[in-house]
Order: sequence, then structure tokens, then C-alpha cells
Amino acid sequence: MTDRIQLTDGSPVPADRSHTEIDPKTGMQKGYVVLSPEERAKGFVKPVRRSYVHAKCGTLTTMGRSLAETYARDPNFYSGTFCCGCGTHFGLDEFTWEDGEPMDTSQQEAWLAEKRVTEARQKEERRLRRIAELRAELASLELGPECTCIAAVSDAPHADWCLAKTSTT
Ligand SMILES: [Zn+2]
Ligand SMILES: [Zn+2]
Repeated sequence: MTDRIQLTDGSPVPADRSHTEIDPKTGMQKGYVVLSPEERAKGFVKPVRRSYVHAKCGTLTTMGRSLAETYARDPNFYSGTFCCGCGTHFGLDEFTWEDGEPMDTSQQEAWLAEKRVTEARQKEERRLRRIAELRAELASLELGPECTCIAAVSDAPHADWCLAKTSTT
């Protein structure tokens, strides 16, 4: 039987959890726990995304594939992650994926609802803008060709070449 979890380098998770020791040079742990390849192969419930933003500092951090796949397989697997701008770890509630989705699953439903409202509003705005454009176009069509001859500025009849001549009402 193979272990369900391992470290990113494929080694077993140390019983003494020594992999969580922080490297003072990088602020990162010595090792990170991921789901085994067999476990990840069971299917992703989220897209595999590599990069996320720390809300507080705005820095984009990119994680390794096995970590990204572990999240995609089990979005509740991690409770926190590393920010390469701050050089330390924070709770997932401080991070969003590059596409805007919060990494913390408890925030995702509200985010999705808000996104849908925004999209519906934008769609309605586009619809109203299109109606206004078509109304303006219709009005100009109904007006017919513009008079460009002497009739535009006097009581004189349209010149023979004037496009407005044939469409007078
Ligand atoms: Zn940060
Ligand atoms: Zn005319």
C-alpha cells in the first residue's frame, strides 16, 4: 500500500514533522506535504492553477505543480500558503488565485455569487447600450439622406443632384 501523502520531492512525510522547519534564508519550509500522484490521479475538483496573489501585498507567487494539483484534487487540503513577497506563510483566507477566486473554500460561494451579479449587470449594460445605438441608427435612417444643396438654407427646391430630393416627405 502506498501512502496517501508525501513530500514534494517524493519522500515520505517525516514522523517528527521536521519538514515544517523554516529555512531562514527563504522563509519556506524544508518540505511541503502533497497528495501522492496516485491520489491526485483520481481527478481534480478545481482547475490546476499555479499562481496566486497575496491580498495584503499584491505579490504573485507561483507554486510547484504537485502542490497545485493537490489543491485541485482537494481544495481543503491546505490551510495556508507561502507569499514570496512577504517571505512567510499566511492563512489561505489572505490569498486569491490569479483568476480572482479566493483560495479559502469558505469564501468561494460568496465570491461566485458576487461575480454572477457583476456579470448580469454588465450584460444588462451592454444590452441597453446596444438598444441606444440601434435607436440612434434607426433615427438617422428615418431622417433619410441629408440635404447638401441650397434647399437646406433657403426656400429653394432641392437641386437635381441632391440625395434628399427623392426622399422628401
Ligand atoms: Zn505578501
Ligand atoms: Zn437638397
